[in-house]
Amino acid sequence: MVNVGINGYGTIGKRVADAVSLQPDMKVMGIVKAHPDYMAFVASKKFKIFISDSKSKKLFEDAGIKVEGTMENLVDDSEIIVDATPDDVGKLNKPFYETHKKKAIFQGGEDHDLTNLSFNSYANFKDAWGASYVRVVSCNTTGLIRTIFPLTELGKVRVRANLVRRATDPNDHKKGPINSIEPDLKIPSHHGPDVRSVIKDLDIQTMAVKVPSTLMHVHFVNVTFDKEVSRDDIIENWRRYRRLMFVSGKDEVKSTSQLMEIARETGRMRSDLYEIVLWKEAISLKGSELFYYQGIHQESDVVPENIDAIRSMMQLKEKEDSINETDKSLRIGELAYGR
Ligand code: NAD
Repeated sequence: MVNVGINGYGTIGKRVADAVSLQPDMKVMGIVKAHPDYMAFVASKKFKIFISDSKSKKLFEDAGIKVEGTMENLVDDSEIIVDATPDDVGKLNKPFYETHKKKAIFQGGEDHDLTNLSFNSYANFKDAWGASYVRVVSCNTTGLIRTIFPLTELGKVRVRANLVRRATDPNDHKKGPINSIEPDLKIPSHHGPDVRSVIKDLDIQTMAVKVPSTLMHVHFVNVTFDKEVSRDDIIENWRRYRRLMFVSGKDEVKSTSQLMEIARETGRMRSDLYEIVLWKEAISLKGSELFYYQGIHQESDVVPENIDAIRSMMQLKEKEDSINETDKSLRIGELAYGR
């Protein structure tokens, strides 16, 4: 049983904490909270609470939240930390983990250079075997790798992808845009180079816009093969990967709101959709050029990768066994309707 500490209990941290709790080979030792807010109170019903600043102990206790100790105590109690603090905060925490000789996983808001090892379960599980520091790539990058990696098994590919990004997460009441479309003026957007931090010599360029939605991202992807492949081969190969799922407009699944409704209806925790969604009828092959749309639930698609990264770094299970265990615990694959 591996002891896991969670530092940062926001969109990603709370989901990883619950996912760790579902695994037979790992245990949540506690979570770090900075402020005694309502979420800290809710979290204290499930997890031991550790605080980032010992001076705030009284504030937590006055709010009826039991404090088990400081972040230092949690790091000492844990064998590995999942750092899910906001963008660029993880890099400030890394020296602390190093001093305490603890392994740590960082998220996609950190640069690749922080760990020099960016992770995706399908593409490079083995690279993280026994590693001390790993970065799980962002939600968009995870989505791109999930569909592109299987395509690289069919031939050499050139990828041009356009990303329609949700403005912010559903719980956020501050960020936008709420009534405009905001192009990423840096071309390529950072997503293409980020995919290359995992699939090293891939020819990929990306552009991105942010739109007023909180539910999911949608990508439209164009892939050129260097040899002849058939649409059936492509779909057949994608089907081997449980973290991809197919839907169809014919079944009245035409939008991200309907995808979220499926997740809600099936009782997924927090209505999470860990799978990357492909609209089947839109998968089109014109000569050697493939076109497809994919939907990405940004709040949850990186959660299974965090669990597999723990297993690889702690040398708990080989790739397939880890993926199977993670998928079973999160019910990934159960929505494979109409395949
Ligand atoms: P979030 O803002 O929802 O949660 C961050 C948590 O860390 C909060 O609970 C906050 O209180 C806490 N925290 C700890 N130290 C802090 C500090 N020094 N300053 C401010 N807050 C601090 O963030 P998130 O969306 O869960 O993102 C976490 C990481 O995961 C980032 O690297 C992000 O890029 C990445 N990520 C986010 C998403 C997404 O869609 N939200 C998807 C994939 C990856």
